[in-house]
Amino acid sequence: MTPPPSSPWIDRMTCIGCGACISTCPTDALARLDGKPTVTAPNRCTACAACEDGCPVGAIQLPYFIVPNPIWEERIQ
Ligand code: SF4
Ligand code: SF4
Repeated sequence: MTPPPSSPWIDRMTCIGCGACISTCPTDALARLDGKPTVTAPNRCTACAACEDGCPVGAIQLPYFIVPNPIWEERIQ
C-alpha cells in the first residue's frame, strides 16, 4: 500500500518570502500567495524535501514522525 503524500508545513512568520522553495519544487506543489509560499497542490508533493533543504531560514519542514527509541529515553533519565 502506498503511504499518503506528506506536504510541508510553512512557518509564515519565519519565512522571508525569498521564493527558493517555490522555484526548487520539482512538482509545482508550492505557489506564492500574499507574498509567502503556500502548498497549493498537496497531492503533487512527493516529500522529496528539496524545499526544506533549500530554505535559508528553516521556515519550511516536512512532517516527520519520530518514534522515540526507548534506549535513548533510558540514557536521558
Ligand atoms: S517536499 Fe518536494 S515535492 Fe513537496 S513541496 Fe517540497 S520540494 Fe515540492
Ligand atoms: S525558501 Fe524558506 S524563506 Fe524562502 S520563501 Fe520558501 S519558506 Fe520562505
